[in-house]
Amino acid sequence: LKKATKQPTLATYESHGLKLTSPERVVFPGDELTKGDLANYYAAVADLLLIDLANRPMTLIRCPQGRGKQCFFQKHDSGAMGPHVLHVPVIENKGETQDYLYVTEALGALECVQMNTIEFHGWGSRVDPLENPDRLVFDLDPDVGLDFDKVKEAALRLRALLGDLGLTTFPLLSGGKGIHVVAPLDQTRDWPTVKSFAERFSRAIAEAEPELFTANIRKVQRKGRIFLDWLRNQRGATAVMPYSARAREGAPVAAPVAWKELDDLTAANIYSIRDAATLLERSSSDLLKGWGQAKQALPDL
Ligand code: ATP
Ligand code: MN
Ligand code: MN
Repeated sequence: LKKATKQPTLATYESHGLKLTSPERVVFPGDELTKGDLANYYAAVADLLLIDLANRPMTLIRCPQGRGKQCFFQKHDSGAMGPHVLHVPVIENKGETQDYLYVTEALGALECVQMNTIEFHGWGSRVDPLENPDRLVFDLDPDVGLDFDKVKEAALRLRALLGDLGLTTFPLLSGGKGIHVVAPLDQTRDWPTVKSFAERFSRAIAEAEPELFTANIRKVQRKGRIFLDWLRNQRGATAVMPYSARAREGAPVAAPVAWKELDDLTAANIYSIRDAATLLERSSSDLLKGWGQAKQALPDL
């Protein structure tokens, strides 16, 4: 019976109250892709997007005039996002309380698209428990012009080293230049512990393998290397969510891949919002079954 369930479409969400305005407006100039195209993409993959996005404080990249024109990050509530875009009060590091945005269901994500969201980014924890991350992410940022083969080599290195510590990891093509190596966590450790692990682990690798890695954020330090962006793992930081579109040329998306197919991949932006059908098919294939799923505690380091 489950197999017969029809894939939701934009019309499905419209029948549940979504009102998409100006679907014909071009959002990706040069790629001739419209707000309607973006909404159709998100409607198709919404259930996949929600696996990671649901119940996570999020940052949206909104581009009311389309990609490349005055896009902005939005992390706090500004009202008027739609009835399924919820708020959670978060005490920020300075001690002030701010309302952050989150969604629990696909309709909420589509309401964000109606408000011209292109990208969905999320915290490393869910709203409850907010203080215990459920994912660790190593954002591999290559130096400008560095060959993608180096990024793949670095990702595989991380996989091996984290594997040695007992962590199962999953690769995500960022849709930009790099790969994110993601390790699910069982929410038994707090933010300072997770951040400290990420920092010490990254600095140790950069010290041991300085020809490939740097843990220093300064671009001048990158020189033919890959910056291990461990700062994604602190409270309040975000990373792009799997299946989020990117506000970049070609309308690429952040796409889960399998370790065993990494060898054959040529870039981090090979999938785009035109590939919803392919992404759906891939998600239910043996290759990606269980992607991002593992019950594991952060190891001691
Ligand atoms: P790429 O592979 O091209 O590096 P990326 O998504 O990893 O793509 P980064 O610039 O490395 O992009 O950023 C990593 C993450 O940091 C982003 O996914 C985003 O969540 C967060 N981030 C980056 N810039 C900002 C910003 N100005 N405000 C808030 N969050 C940001
Ligand atoms: Mn990156
Ligand atoms: Mn980064």
